[in-house]
Amino acid sequence: MINFQYARANDVADAVRQIAADPTAKFIAGGTNLLDLMKEDVERPSRLIDIARLPLTKIDETADGGLRIGALVPNSDLAWHVLITQRYPVLASAILAGASAQLRNMASTGGNLLQRTRCFYFYDTATPCNKREPDSGCSAIKGINRINAILGTSDACIATHPSDMCVALAALEAKIHVAGPAGERIISFADFHRLPGDTPQRDTNLAVNEIVTAVELPAQGFAKNYTYLKIRDRLSYAFALVSVAVGLEMDGNTIRQARFAVGGVAHKPWRDLSAEAALNGQVASPDNFKRAADLAVRDAQGYGHNTFKIELARRTIVRALTQAATATPQSQFNKKVV
Ligand SMILES: Cc1cc2nc3c(=O)[nH]c(=O)nc-3n(C[C@H](O)[C@H](O)[C@H](O)COP(=O)(O)OP(=O)(O)OC[C@H]3O[C@@H](n4cnc5c(N)ncnc54)[C@H](O)[C@@H]3O)c2cc1C
Ligand code: SF4
Repeated sequence: MINFQYARANDVADAVRQIAADPTAKFIAGGTNLLDLMKEDVERPSRLIDIARLPLTKIDETADGGLRIGALVPNSDLAWHVLITQRYPVLASAILAGASAQLRNMASTGGNLLQRTRCFYFYDTATPCNKREPDSGCSAIKGINRINAILGTSDACIATHPSDMCVALAALEAKIHVAGPAGERIISFADFHRLPGDTPQRDTNLAVNEIVTAVELPAQGFAKNYTYLKIRDRLSYAFALVSVAVGLEMDGNTIRQARFAVGGVAHKPWRDLSAEAALNGQVASPDNFKRAADLAVRDAQGYGHNTFKIELARRTIVRALTQAATATPQSQFNKKVV
């Protein structure tokens, strides 16, 4: 039995005060990831600060035509909110491709951002893992690494970030609002999650004494030409081997602006700005899509079991771009599978 304290935060300022007072404490929102990690003895917080009742459950329109999503909006509410389904369907589609209906009812927007890797060895406390225990070694690099990363890896860690929602947020260029002892700040989505480098124990640039309060979406939602394509071992209730979120702004058959992010391949949702730029002003054609996909995976490295992901990522990018250009988005959202 591992003892821990439990306290409820009254408001955001109280939550910040409590976490600042005890750096080994953890916030708990839906608990769908943290409680599993505690049961597996991967996380041992001294204290749980329950933020589930904080008033961060609203979705508001912003002055510049975007949306501000409270950190405690449940994933299911977010996916089915009319402003999301109409204006940001790639986000709805990505969320509905993840987990199960029950989990999405519990999971929060902030918790989804901060969920931890599914690397087998991270969960297996009998094996070395630099993310769980810095400087202990990485069991995945020469181990069973089928689900691990091919881009942005380091000698210390080849874990992937498992979120579907975050892949869409990367393509949409969301912003993360956070609060801490020094006040509030905004982190661009590209700067929120980190590559492993030699500090794989740090998943994000959120400080230990900060709380995520909201996710802000810009006005551009790519509502017409979008897709979220998730390739996995089973059609439901499985994490992505590779996933791609695409948003295109089309002018006839010409791409005015392209965005795409790739999930399941790196420690953070992977965007390659040169691959996106290569599509801008070009016609939507198989050759141009293949060129962009080649650019996106040009630095990919396989580790044995996961080497197949390089070609899988290339093909998934091409298919996702093709679907988005022809306004035939991936099934999950359109079939209303929940
Ligand atoms: C069986 C299973 C299958 C799943 N499949 C998928 C899938 O296919 N795709 C997918 O994307 N996800 C999947 N998930 C993961 C699920 O989406 C996450 O567990 C969930 O989004 C986490 O949200 P939560 O509110 O429950 O977080 P919690 O478990 O409460 O917290 C997770 C982490 O975030 C921190 N935290 C939470 N809120 C805040 C905040 N506002 N500010 C700062 N820190 C915060 C906590 O301290 C903790 O470290 C699956 C989960 C399970 C259990
Ligand atoms: S890949 Fe990262 S999470 Fe997995 S064993 Fe290596 S250090 Fe741990």
